[in-house]
Amino acid sequence: MDGDRVGEGGAPVRVVVDLNRCQGYAQCAFLAPDVFRMHGDEALLYVPQAGAEQRERLAQAVAACPVQAILVDDGQDGRRTLPAGALADGTGGHGDGGR
Ligand code: SF4
Repeated sequence: MDGDRVGEGGAPVRVVVDLNRCQGYAQCAFLAPDVFRMHGDEALLYVPQAGAEQRERLAQAVAACPVQAILVDDGQDGRRTLPAGALADGTGGHGDGGR
């Protein structure tokens, strides 16, 4: 295999936190503790490349961050940043008209 695509469970997810925005609210560390961790009162540590199994938790963390400092790139085909709530768990389910 010479690609960087991982077949099992999806590709790893790239995580970037804009530390200039981050205010250390720790919502992300609460929702995705395997990816984000607070170091002291203000410093945020995070794993820049998380396993695909973290996608849902990451989506929750993205949605919960009060300053929207978290960017997630699932690396599927090109860059894909998930804005707040993009992967929310079937909330709403509004139909698209099906034309
Ligand atoms: S939730 Fe947002 S502001 Fe809070 S620690 Fe995480 S990235 Fe920083």
